[in-house]
Amino acid sequence: MRLDVVTIFPEYLEPLNVSLVGKARARGQLDVRVHDLREWTHDKHNTVDDTPYGGGPGMVMKPEPWGEALDAIIESGTSGTEDARPTIVVPTPSGEPFTQEIAVELAEKPWLVFTPARYEGIDRRVIEEYGDHYDVRELSIGDYVLAGGEAPVLVMVEAVARLLPGVLGNAESHRDDSFAPGAMADLLEGPVYTKPPEWRGRGIPDVLLSGHHGKIARWRRDEAFRRTTANRPDLIERTDPAAFDKKDREMLSILGWGPGEDGRFGRVAPDVEE
Ligand code: SAM
Repeated sequence: MRLDVVTIFPEYLEPLNVSLVGKARARGQLDVRVHDLREWTHDKHNTVDDTPYGGGPGMVMKPEPWGEALDAIIESGTSGTEDARPTIVVPTPSGEPFTQEIAVELAEKPWLVFTPARYEGIDRRVIEEYGDHYDVRELSIGDYVLAGGEAPVLVMVEAVARLLPGVLGNAESHRDDSFAPGAMADLLEGPVYTKPPEWRGRGIPDVLLSGHHGKIARWRRDEAFRRTTANRPDLIERTDPAAFDKKDREMLSILGWGPGEDGRFGRVAPDVEE
């Protein structure tokens, strides 16, 4: 997979050299190219921002450097291969929420170009212009406002990179993750333990030492229900009840949850302590 990042703070992307993403780069699984937006400015101050039309506080990123940068990057990848088209990812708090589902979708693309902004964001015409020709995704990493899009790019790249074939040592590692599509969908992952079996007087649940795979799987699912009802009740509320088997329903009932008139599950009894 090829990843391009255009930024006015290339050094902010240094973490892409370490850990999982750094190793994937070293192994040739990821071709990461970080570009300085100011290379596509032509005045002596390398200006990338200007005052907003209509007034108001803050500055807006000018369209010309972004247009030249994106054209040059796209050109560098498309010459020779007609169907190599990037997906352009625009981090913005006003975008669609970035989720594991979107990470899975992006992990299937051959080429992502990220456009982390600063100031009040990028002149809207840039998004419209490239949106007419390419797949442009405006994505938010959460309901809060950061000073720039570089940290969101690090978040998204890491979420995507760990899904690429061969990047995680154990391909099964992300199967049971919170939010992973599959058996645990719509449930958060429960607690995990490792050796030693006792630490500061605290043991681990006996079932994990039982060697009984069925019981361990059930325990993990029950713990996932415990954690999800406590921390993200919205995930259970929106789940199609057909996804719950008899044992799931028993556990939900123990936790004070039951079906409402429409069959969907909601809290029917006061909070049960975790
Ligand atoms: N005025 C903008 C608004 O309210 O939508 C916020 C601009 S913010 C100060 C500057 C840049 O940081 C954004 O253009 C975006 O690239 C990035 N950014 C900030 N918060 C973000 C978030 N939650 N998700 C994704 N990108 C974010």
